[in-house]
Amino acid sequence: VGKISLEQIDSLSVKSYPLCMRQLHQALRENHHLRHGGRMQYGLFLKGIGLTLDQALQFWRSEFIRGKVDADKFDKAYAYSIRHMFGKEGKRTDYTPYSCMKVILSNPPSQGDHHGCPFRHSDPELLKQKLQSYKISPSGINQILELVKGMHYQLACQKYFELTHNIEDSAFSLNHPNQYFIESQKLLG
Ligand code: SF4
Repeated sequence: VGKISLEQIDSLSVKSYPLCMRQLHQALRENHHLRHGGRMQYGLFLKGIGLTLDQALQFWRSEFIRGKVDADKFDKAYAYSIRHMFGKEGKRTDYTPYSCMKVILSNPPSQGDHHGCPFRHSDPELLKQKLQSYKISPSGINQILELVKGMHYQLACQKYFELTHNIEDSAFSLNHPNQYFIESQKLLG
């Protein structure tokens, strides 16, 4: 924990993030903003992969102030909730990153949100386009969409893992976005 540098995040998001986090990271970079549900899901994931509180504050602040939020507003309106995530405010609960089941079953995204599980919450046609843009092969996309149709969202995600890491059979059973990241880093080192 604490070994990630902020400069690594863009490349990690492409190589080692599950689709839910890749989508959140991309939306954050594009919009310089994420709504509450996205900040919680992604912020806790980042904490789980080893960002320190100081790094997290720097990460969110530098992105938000590129958009409509100035540094003063960031410090007033958003820094608190980031410290809160790290258990430094309020009841000082040390929040843990969300599991796949939590992401899949609670707080579905509405218009303008980017959180959730894309295998569960994206329109299949949009999911297909996204996978194409990420250079997944047509047969791989078909396999993923079949699993999605059968409501096997985590298996679909695991198939995405196998296809993006060029392995036949991942030797783990996916239940957490941070587990996805760890398994990816084990392979890519
Ligand atoms: Fe994220 Fe889990 Fe959905 Fe994969 S299955 S995209 S890790 S929530």
